[in-house]
Amino acid sequence: MLVTVENRPADVVDRVVERLGAVLRPDQILTSKTDRYNRARVPAPFPVHRWRERVPDLAVLPETTEEVAAVVRIANELRVPVVPRDGGTGLTDGAVPLRGGIVVDVKRMNRIHELDLENRTVTVGTGINMLKLNEVLARHGLIYPDDPASYPCSLVGGRIGTSGWSLIGARYGHTRDLVLSFDHVLPTGEVVHLGDGIGGKISKSSSGYQLKHLFMGHQGTLGIATRATLKLYPKPEAELSPFWAFDDYDAAHRFTGALARAGVATFAGAVLFDEWKVAYLRRDDEAYIPQPADVRALTCAVLYGWEDEVRAGGRRLFRIAREHGARYLGDEISAGDWAARTTATPHRCTGAPGPGRWCR
Ligand SMILES: Cc1cc2nc3c(=O)[nH]c(=O)nc-3n(C[C@H](O)[C@H](O)[C@H](O)COP(=O)(O)OP(=O)(O)OC[C@H]3O[C@@H](n4cnc5c(N)ncnc54)[C@H](O)[C@@H]3O)c2cc1C
Repeated sequence: MLVTVENRPADVVDRVVERLGAVLRPDQILTSKTDRYNRARVPAPFPVHRWRERVPDLAVLPETTEEVAAVVRIANELRVPVVPRDGGTGLTDGAVPLRGGIVVDVKRMNRIHELDLENRTVTVGTGINMLKLNEVLARHGLIYPDDPASYPCSLVGGRIGTSGWSLIGARYGHTRDLVLSFDHVLPTGEVVHLGDGIGGKISKSSSGYQLKHLFMGHQGTLGIATRATLKLYPKPEAELSPFWAFDDYDAAHRFTGALARAGVATFAGAVLFDEWKVAYLRRDDEAYIPQPADVRALTCAVLYGWEDEVRAGGRRLFRIAREHGARYLGDEISAGDWAARTTATPHRCTGAPGPGRWCR
């Protein structure tokens, strides 16, 4: 049976709040019903009528690694569950406080601590949003290319907690590749620095434990990442995002496999849509460009890089498309739909020659 907020004795909660008062300011400790209910949900298909069983006893808003560590030490001592929460977009209920306790909301840890242009890394608090981070990086001609479909709302810490998958990961890598190292508070309240070998800004080391991967994708069960060093790339000069239609799903599936196997270096990813998804997109016309009525299945590919290399890669992809009988849906649908899907490259296109859309 679940231990819920209703059956955790009030005096235990009062004691937790009192102890937290010694390490946090009052505005960092949230006990109101609104603050707690706002941190009880994620957009997963969770039974709505059971939300009140998963409400935290309280939430905290730490601003430093030391504060996170102090909160976790107190929780460990008083045997109260802790659940880290970033954007709250995780679809596996990871940020839901199943047993009440303390939600550690890291959103205030959203500072850029160091931008290293020489090594092309940035060190940030894990409460930062990738959209905001990229707004700053764009001024330096750089990009942090972790680009999930939840890009505007998910945060760096949640990406670490879920070891996220990026829509453009075939070109730039996924969260596991882009996060070089991070400070991490263990469930005992001890702080460790984790990376590949030595950690810091080093992306490869022949000595030292490769612990980073153990502490990614654990959904908060192994502690809380507080500060991370991320790998950056030059902001791409060009984007190509062609959409191709097929009469049946199997043909689209075969084509998508051929694209993935082609070995084009600028190929960032492909998305495959079946009949049901296409029908859904037609209905959801505010978000995406509606697809023509006769389309049964779709493949979208996306390439990023310097203009000359994207052009060359695009020509190869279009050749493969012809061999598979794919029907190109035109520049407007191609660029418009992809733009609605991703905001990783906010240099949105102005249109240019060639298949699909090229941009500077
Ligand atoms: C519309 C939509 C589209 C999506 N598309 C994608 C996609 O393309 N690719 C993809 O990978 N995911 C996708 N997701 C799922 C979700 O966005 C990701 O799992 C994302 O990484 C969660 O980040 P978050 O900041 O919202 O984390 P949260 O939901 O707050 O937390 C996720 C998990 O990580 C833990 N956690 C949170 N912060 C920390 C921390 N600082 N340290 C350790 N653990 C922590 C939490 O306890 C929880 O278990 C999508 C979700 C939605 C709603």
